[in-house]
Amino acid sequence: MSQLIYKNYISGEFKSSDNLFDDISPYDGSIVARVSEANKADVDVAVRSARKALSGVWSEMTLDSRCALISRVADEIDNRFDDFVSAEIADTGKPLNQAETIDIPRGAENFRFFSNYIKSMGTELFDSQTHDGAKILNYSIRKPKGVIAVIAPWNLPLLLLTWKLAPALAAGNCVIAKPSEETPGSATLLAEVFDKVGFPAGVFNLLHGFGPASVGEYLTKHSGIDAITFTGESSTGSEIMKAAAPGVKALSFELGGKNPAIIFDDADLDAAVNGTIKSVFSNCGQVCLCTERVYVQSKLYERFMEKFTLQAEKLIENWPEGDASNFGPLISEDHRKKVLDAFSKASSDGGNLITGGGVPEFSDKRKSGFWIEPTIFTGLDEDSEFMKNEIFGPVCHVSQFDSEDEVLQMANNTDYGLAAAVWTTDLKRAHSFSAKLDVGIVWINSWYLRDLRTPFGGTKLSGIGREGGHHSIDFYSEISNICLKL
Ligand code: NAD
Repeated sequence: MSQLIYKNYISGEFKSSDNLFDDISPYDGSIVARVSEANKADVDVAVRSARKALSGVWSEMTLDSRCALISRVADEIDNRFDDFVSAEIADTGKPLNQAETIDIPRGAENFRFFSNYIKSMGTELFDSQTHDGAKILNYSIRKPKGVIAVIAPWNLPLLLLTWKLAPALAAGNCVIAKPSEETPGSATLLAEVFDKVGFPAGVFNLLHGFGPASVGEYLTKHSGIDAITFTGESSTGSEIMKAAAPGVKALSFELGGKNPAIIFDDADLDAAVNGTIKSVFSNCGQVCLCTERVYVQSKLYERFMEKFTLQAEKLIENWPEGDASNFGPLISEDHRKKVLDAFSKASSDGGNLITGGGVPEFSDKRKSGFWIEPTIFTGLDEDSEFMKNEIFGPVCHVSQFDSEDEVLQMANNTDYGLAAAVWTTDLKRAHSFSAKLDVGIVWINSWYLRDLRTPFGGTKLSGIGREGGHHSIDFYSEISNICLKL
């Protein structure tokens, strides 16, 4: 069978490159495809083409026709649903069920949602008077920000890319998308979709490649890019900030987390256990919102640990399509090494390994994949490395606490501030405690429920700005005030 080659999509044309790199499957280490790395000249052509479309054909379209085209992207993703699911599981190793119920449908929904949402948005108007009684109207208008670089990670490849593309396009911008080098498949299919539904050349461009000394760096330093929207590691965000500083480019950052789950004595134990199993181990722990620090109030601690450990040990590491498959591998050998190193450090720092900690044994091709066991630690110091750094794997540490004040201090004792889960049946406490957590998102008695209208983002090392609903549209727009003296 001939090797699959993923191409770039520049100015309405698919273009391969002499520089090919491997797209590797995490579940058995096999090569899924070879990927065309774009070079600096490709970035220049894509930016020029985007700027041309921005001031021409794309800006001349009515809002209705623009949004109709965007929502056709969602329809076409639906039409090619199985292709998208296959590409996503081949690149990430995630269970079929997860790709079918989360990644691909939510990826399509992003286009449907923002193409409708923008049509309901208004702007401000202030009615006032001069000292001599003349009437003044101040009103604002919304314009596209320009050409946006969209840089995405590998953990939810289609979902996180489209989360930014959809509002950027709805607000009238042109985009250059750079998916992660680890997961180029679904983005390549998306380029085929844009091509098929008839987007004008230059409005959407896709460039494959890496970060430093590759497409990522070329884009963030390019004078033709007006704004950068990025999801990834906090340290990468910091590098991008430096690259963007000379051009004072607008930045929207969704970065890492070290998220706590706080379980009070009065919580519904089974709900808290099931919810925490999800929040720790979903996507093999590779969701920025995943819990890595669990705090359980003393009276419930023993019972929680018993049930939680039992459930973690029931997770099944299987091929994505397997009948019982709810736990996939990590994304790469490098990442597995990083996670295993964090396990060793936790043990040498005095942590008690409750379950997992190693690599599962297989007798089939999974031997060559990047699998790892669901892992639980206890007994670590709040200031240990494990408790401070994001690990981004299927692991958590469970601590006990006595009072609300004590757990609040522990939960907020981190440089990150993305998300938290609070489990309690005391509604008053749920409200007051959640408001004191220094994070962008709190889930009470749940985890990862998303309403696309709500603000999404983090504090401190977890990001800059908020996306979702009007927060996204605000970032992707320039707002001009017009003052009219009547
Ligand atoms: P990463 O930072 O390594 O890479 C993300 C993207 O940035 C990739 O496309 C990569 O090629 C590119 N990149 C890397 N260096 C660059 C540079 N110097 N200039 C420009 N681009 C560069 O992140 P990852 O490993 O792909 O993703 C995992 C991380 O993402 C975790 O830290 C996770 O918490 C975070 N994340 C955050 C959110 C959120 O919403 N807050 C969501 C998902 C993932």
